[in-house]
Amino acid sequence: MKIKNIQTHTLKAALKHPFITSLRRVDALEDLVVTIECDDGTIGLGEGAPTPVITGETIGSMVATIEYIKPHLIGKDLEDFDTILTLVHTLILKNTTAKSALEIALYDLKAKSQNLPLYRMLGGTQTQFTTDITISMGDIDTMIQACYDAVALGYDTLKIKIGDDPTKDAERIIAIHQALDKDITLRLDANQGWSAKQSVTLLHTLENQDIIAAFIEQPVAADDIEGLKYIKQRVQTPVLADESIFSLKDARVLLEMQAIDYVNIKLAKTAGITHALKLADLSQSFGVQCMIGCMLEGPISVAAGVHVASAKADIITMLDLDAVSLLKSHPLKSEVLFNESEIILSDVAGLGLAY
Ligand SMILES: [Mg+2]
Repeated sequence: MKIKNIQTHTLKAALKHPFITSLRRVDALEDLVVTIECDDGTIGLGEGAPTPVITGETIGSMVATIEYIKPHLIGKDLEDFDTILTLVHTLILKNTTAKSALEIALYDLKAKSQNLPLYRMLGGTQTQFTTDITISMGDIDTMIQACYDAVALGYDTLKIKIGDDPTKDAERIIAIHQALDKDITLRLDANQGWSAKQSVTLLHTLENQDIIAAFIEQPVAADDIEGLKYIKQRVQTPVLADESIFSLKDARVLLEMQAIDYVNIKLAKTAGITHALKLADLSQSFGVQCMIGCMLEGPISVAAGVHVASAKADIITMLDLDAVSLLKSHPLKSEVLFNESEIILSDVAGLGLAY
């Protein structure tokens, strides 16, 4: 099976509600779908959503990166899978989302060539998963209503976006905690919005009221490694690193420093599946559990994340793969069931999606 052509297509989809974090507001999804066609007609699908404020990429930079790598892949045989992956990762630095989109398509092809669902090719067996849902940052009443709506849809774990103002953030969490049944799990994501000292003060305020969230995600700036450790040493709430970890090297530094409790793996940060699997293994070697998350992205790349979760189910114990449920609709044919909090992988070969 030789690679004959690689194409990119933009995918646009309306959101049910605007997506608001301390870093950005998004009103509609625009991401990039990659199709890789082989000489026997098999097509592999990949996808990635540029997130300029996190990975530094745009649709234009993703297309340019893929066009740059493309001539080196044309004519390559899927039998030489490792060589192909090495080319994707070494021909150009950074550009992690573009590389991830290419990698996902290559893994889709490889699994199709073996007539296996991707999770089986990667050694996984689990097919049923439960994800949280993101509650956008906003005023307290709007956030509480969004929480009620999510619970009514069956979600028992909510990821609350905060991080624009520590005082307001504490008020938001206290109000949300009071409004919800106690069996609802709260995950907090400040998207780098606080200083280390602000984080400790805020989390102590919550903890003094017996509010211990499942974790606080990325409370401080991505490069504030010492800040993460400062917080972890002073609060009961577990600390999860997201924007601080792209590469295995980033993770190793944090894990060796014992600066975090959990790792958030995202294919758009790890440049795809290969390094996501390695990041899970590395975390496991330190006894640190992982969440697998996504950007605001479409069903192909989210499905790829679910396959990775299956492959590493013993260490990826949390899913934050709600992006498909945030869309009003999308144009793909999906054998993967995305039903709000419930995601079920199918036994068709590859990822389980068709464009
Ligand atoms: Mg995050």
